Amino acid sequence: MISLVANHSSLIIEKAKLFEETQRLSITDSLTGLYNVRHFYRSLHAELERAKRYKDSFSLVIFDIDDFKQVNDTYGHQIGDDLLKEFADILFHFSRKSDIVARYGGEEFVMILPKTPKESAYFLANRILKKVQEHKFLADKKLSLNISISGGISTFPEDGDNEKDLLYCADMALYKAKQEGKKRVICFDKTIFSEVSNETGF
Ligand code: GH3
Ligand code: MG
Ligand code: MG
Repeated sequence: MISLVANHSSLIIEKAKLFEETQRLSITDSLTGLYNVRHFYRSLHAELERAKRYKDSFSLVIFDIDDFKQVNDTYGHQIGDDLLKEFADILFHFSRKSDIVARYGGEEFVMILPKTPKESAYFLANRILKKVQEHKFLADKKLSLNISISGGISTFPEDGDNEKDLLYCADMALYKAKQEGKKRVICFDKTIFSEVSNETGF
């Protein structure tokens, strides 16, 4: 009887573990181990609700690796993948437990920084930028590559009160960072809106 109960319990534990693992995989980007874009959207929605409820601020950062295509073209796609993993590790290292760090797609990454006003987000993003610029990527493969990144920041509540606007503003700030020569982080403000609208005809 005891062994029957024990067997049954271990089966239940196994199933629970399997369920947990499946849940974890469903929110994870398989290449980098960061959260995937689906989980990012869900988290952004939740953070927005939380911040509205508690009259809090939070910031959104989008990073894009500069000239990443050149890495692929020069060293091949596999090395490109390895570099993405190493970059993801740096982002993760710089994040707090409460932050959400996700792969947005390709060589673009996003961070949700709860309770973080614009200036603090800018400070953190610049620390990451500096770290990336100093870091020798793929040193274990005897490559020691230098790369740079560009970033765009938007902040709730001043830049928008919904997911779409906040993403749009961070994206416009990133676009401006690229336009101004890459290797920099730019925070969204209303002047960017008129500049980018004029350039792109929005
Ligand atoms: P920019 O400085 O303007 O961002 O230039 P870029 O070359 O980084 O940007 P572009 O959009 O021209 O190229 C992005 C490249 O990222 C092209 C694509 O092959 C590569 N890429 C996207 N996803 C992956 C991936 O999962 N693995 C690898 N190795 N490369 C990827
Ligand atoms: Mg890109
Ligand atoms: Mg890029």
